[in-house]
Amino acid sequence: MPNAIVVGGGIAGLVMARDLALGGLHVTLLEASDHLGGKVARHTVAGIDLDAGAESFATRRNTVEDLAKQLGLGADVARPNPRGAWLLTAEGLAHPMPRTGILGIPGIALAADVIEVVGFWGALRGQLDALMFGFAGSKERNLGRLVRRRMGRRVLERLVAPVTLGIHSRHPDELDVDVVAPGLRAAMLSTGSLSNGVRSLRESAPAGTAVSGLVGGIFSLVEALTRDLERFGVRVRLNSPVAAISASTATLVDGQTLQADTVVLAAPLTAEGAVAATAAIVLATLVVDAPELDAAPRGTGVLVARPPVGSQLQAKALTHGTAKWDWLAARAARHRHVLRLSYDGAVAEKFTDSELRDLALRDAGVLLGVALTATSVVEFARVHWSAPADRPAPIEGVTVIGEGVAGTGLAAVIAQVRLESGRLLKNMGA
Ligand SMILES: Cc1cc2nc3c(=O)[nH]c(=O)nc-3n(C[C@H](O)[C@H](O)[C@H](O)COP(=O)(O)OP(=O)(O)OC[C@H]3O[C@@H](n4cnc5c(N)ncnc54)[C@H](O)[C@@H]3O)c2cc1C
Repeated sequence: MPNAIVVGGGIAGLVMARDLALGGLHVTLLEASDHLGGKVARHTVAGIDLDAGAESFATRRNTVEDLAKQLGLGADVARPNPRGAWLLTAEGLAHPMPRTGILGIPGIALAADVIEVVGFWGALRGQLDALMFGFAGSKERNLGRLVRRRMGRRVLERLVAPVTLGIHSRHPDELDVDVVAPGLRAAMLSTGSLSNGVRSLRESAPAGTAVSGLVGGIFSLVEALTRDLERFGVRVRLNSPVAAISASTATLVDGQTLQADTVVLAAPLTAEGAVAATAAIVLATLVVDAPELDAAPRGTGVLVARPPVGSQLQAKALTHGTAKWDWLAARAARHRHVLRLSYDGAVAEKFTDSELRDLALRDAGVLLGVALTATSVVEFARVHWSAPADRPAPIEGVTVIGEGVAGTGLAAVIAQVRLESGRLLKNMGA
């Protein structure tokens, strides 16, 4: 039986190991840490099990939902509350996010909810997109440049940037359209404008909102995958950091070398060693007793365009977990709320736990438009996440998967794994 080594036990490595084992390969999974899941993780705050990393997935291509079904979790797929998220503008005004967009790019530039955020002149500039030829900018793979050219600066900075900073921790100028919005450029070409392209992609998506979750949290995916790996005989080695790889070997940090017919890399590593990491994001989770939040004053959460002048706001986004997920509200006591704020890693690193808790409480008050007192806090938790500073360089003969190449997000990562596992199995005649 041909054998395979998968390096990295995040969602990418787990799905790959399962696919290869199902395809008949003898698989060894090497994970550096003492647990599986990577950025799909769980923590318990105030007695409630919560996702400490990814908490939802994009539904556009059904990729994650299909996997959930294969893992027996189909019945747990949950839609978020349709009231949607809000946006805090640089002027300190909060507005519901326009309904027709993708990544904040409006499907109807002159819609009332778009004008509310970008102003009439900003929306009019956005509407110019409909008057341009569809091919204008269609070769542009930089998301920022594409949106700026077709719809102008205000749409870019006020609508698109808050969304990409919230989801990808990157400004649109740093993102590849084909990675974060696959199919959008082609849709723009075939429909004649960016806004038409956005609408056509939305119409071809499954009905309902653009994201879904899982009852019990996204972490159930990792639990189900782990069970399957055991069932399919995958050898999982935790606490096994890999120092170097080649097409047929993985050398562990302790010097041990493993041989295989094929090596798959699902971790930030180059042929020479680990890729430097940056402190990307800090999540501050507050569980509060606050009846004033029962009515979900800002829907499922708030994205920040730019901190309002004089507000001292530091958070980039807030998710009101108990307003977003009915299953979570059902698990929390009456008037108890879960708030998850994200901070730039480099900023939040400097704060002690109690400083960050106080900051998160103040920011949550600003973002939700209510005054939250320190006595309302039941428990606070912080989680640090880092990201590789660079994309992994290709390694001769090694299949590279995961967010370093597929882009951020479970849908993008899992879609790429499925493509690569199919290709690998075919090549190996399995
Ligand atoms: C705070 C946060 C919130 C997010 N929210 C969402 C969301 O709501 N929806 C969504 O779709 N996406 C979200 N994401 C993104 C999503 O979680 C990631 O894109 C995805 O989980 C990446 O999976 P991966 O397997 O490619 O990488 P990772 O999860 O980073 O896994 C890599 C694994 O490799 C291991 N490893 C590293 N180095 C080595 C080595 N040398 N040897 C062996 N193993 C090694 C690591 O320990 C880790 O387990 C979020 C990310 C973060 C940080």
